[in-house]
Parts: sequence; C-alpha cells; structure tokens
Amino acid sequence: MNHSPDTSAPIPPTALPAFRRRLLAWYRREKRDLDWRRTRDPYAIWISEIMLQQTRVAAVIPYYRRFLARFPTVQHLARARVDAVLRRWAGLGYYSRARNLHRAAKEIVARHGGKFPRGLDDALALPGIGSYTAAAVLSIAYDQPLAVLDGNVARVLARLGAVRGDLRQPKIWRSLAASADALLASNAASDWNQAMMELGATVCTPQTPRCDECPVERWCRARALGIAEELPAARVKSKTQRITLAAAVLLDPHGRTLVLRQTDDAGALFSRMWQFPAVQAGKQPRQDLAKLLSAHLTRVFSTFIDSGAPKMQPLDDARHTVTFREIRLASFLLRVERLPAIKGARTPLLAELDHLPVSAATRKIAAAALRALKASGS
Ligand code: SF4
Repeated sequence: MNHSPDTSAPIPPTALPAFRRRLLAWYRREKRDLDWRRTRDPYAIWISEIMLQQTRVAAVIPYYRRFLARFPTVQHLARARVDAVLRRWAGLGYYSRARNLHRAAKEIVARHGGKFPRGLDDALALPGIGSYTAAAVLSIAYDQPLAVLDGNVARVLARLGAVRGDLRQPKIWRSLAASADALLASNAASDWNQAMMELGATVCTPQTPRCDECPVERWCRARALGIAEELPAARVKSKTQRITLAAAVLLDPHGRTLVLRQTDDAGALFSRMWQFPAVQAGKQPRQDLAKLLSAHLTRVFSTFIDSGAPKMQPLDDARHTVTFREIRLASFLLRVERLPAIKGARTPLLAELDHLPVSAATRKIAAAALRALKASGS
C-alpha cells in the first residue's frame, strides 16, 4: 500500500468555482446558530477561538457568554486582574490559554490601540496566538484571505483527496495546508473557513461521515473509492502516562484551608493555579506527602509537626485527566490548630475555594474533603 502523501490538489482547477459555490451555499443555509457567528467583533471571535481549542462547542457556550458578560471589551480584559480572568475560566481547563489571553489583551491595548491587529505578523506575535488562531480571527473578523487548517478541516481535505497516512506528520500536514490555500474562496474567506470547519464538525465527522448529505460529495475521492470511513489513518498515540498526586487539605478549626501556587513538578500540572500542597507520589502517597510536609516545608509546618504529626485522614481518591496524563488524586485531610504562615499562600474557607481560580483537580479534592467532613458530622 502506498503511504506517501498525495500532494495533488484535491479539486481540479476547472471544478473549483462550482465546488466553492456549493459549499458556501450549503454553509449559508445550514450553519449552526452560534453566538460567535452573530458578531464580527474581532475580540469576541478571538475569545471564541481560544475557548474552542480542545473544548467542545456545547461546553464552550456558557463560558463564552459569562466571559463576555464580565469582560465585554479588550479594555475590560486588559484592566482585569489575572485572578479574575482565571476565575471566569475555571472548569474549561488548559489555563495557560486564559493567562495568554490576558497578556495578549494588555499588548493589544498598549501596542495596537485596543484593536485586534490586522497584520498576520502582529497577530502571531501575541501570546497564545499560533498560525491556526491568527488565520481564524483575521479571516472571520476581517475577511482576510488566510485559509485555516485545524483537525476538522484536515479530515475533510484528507477525504476529498484520499490522503493516506497520519495527517499530523509534518510532510502530510504541509501538503494539507497547501490544499487548504488552493481551495480558499479568497473573496469570502470568513464564510469559507467556517464552511470547511462546519462541514468537518457536522457532516464529515470522524467516525461515520454522512456522505449522502454532503454538499461536495461528487468531488470526493475517498467517497468514490469507498474508503471515507477508513480515513484519516489512526494517529500514532502518545502513551498514556499514569501519575499519582498526593495532596494535603489542611483544615483549621474555623474551616480555613491553605492553598499555594506551586511551581515544581506537581504545580506544573496545574499551570500555577491555586492548589493544595501536593507532590507527585510513587506507590506510597501518604509517605511521600508526609515527606513533603516535613522535609521541604519543615519550618513552616513545624508548628504541628513538632507537636506530633497530625493524623492524615485519607479522602476518596479522584481521577483527573490532562491530555495524555491520567492523574490519580490521593488526598488527605489534616486538621491543625492553626495554619502555617507561608509567604504568598492563601487561607480561604474550604467551602469557598471556588472564589479563587483553582483547577478542576483542586475542586475535586475539595469536594472529597467536604464530603468526608459532612460524613463525620463536622
Ligand atoms: Fe466527507 Fe463524505 Fe463529504 Fe467526502 S463525501 S467530504 S467523506 S462527508
């Protein structure tokens, strides 16, 4: 079998006008009514594109609405404190996206007069903006003739051209990018890019493409060859990494707990969100956590360690998945007379932890602690 990429254009030049007409007409007739399609405001479109990275449309909608209600313009976002931005993002995951948005908003206000830049180089220089996002925002908001290539579009192109092999291989990806450029209806870039993405999201779907309903079926090589469902070829997957994280929920008699921003291995998993003291553990999370508390944080935790190690009450295990990492959260409740004073740490009420930007994993641990407290009647 030939696994080399097919680099020829998927649609012959003579068929291009009809192909474009059909796809655009289909999109204008069938497109889903999504909030970010009711605006040409580059700021709102940019927010939607960042949120939609690695997150499903249905999950994004409520976050998008709340985020824009709180930060309706780039100026509002630039003026906000990063904690407020992260709080509105909490639950969406991949928190570096929110921090980059905030940094980029400041740059847009400081260097671009508060308008998302129109130039590709200027857009690419902003934090968190890669070639996909730049092309998406500039084409959708400003109709700039830049073709987008994301997973949905790549799948459509691979099927149209019967491209075999792993689409993320650089050589194949480059060939798909060239195909995307060749097909682009440059006088209607906004609708065109959205039409390609919409076709991939709603008709040319990963498992069972609905070719009978496809507006461009007559030009599709995979359909003609009867191999639409076999394409694209399965990706060579990164091996799942299993990690155990041991976390300590300290609790004082007033119901306050201690959270910090860790920057070690464990902290890196959660992008410097507020979290319970935690350590990446081996087979014995309790011992590893005790070591963290007594060795790394000796001085600050000496208040209770010296007066006899506090009881470490195990909480229900929880699971958390971040990209290719499966994390087992082994957490323990430690009741202390008073919380240690640590520079930069916070001591919120455990029941009100949500008021801070915390990751979904931290919320799971807090929920397990609150359940245990309820069960014990405290
Ligand atoms: Fe995708 Fe089928 Fe349309 Fe080809 S005919 S583009 S495989 S939905």
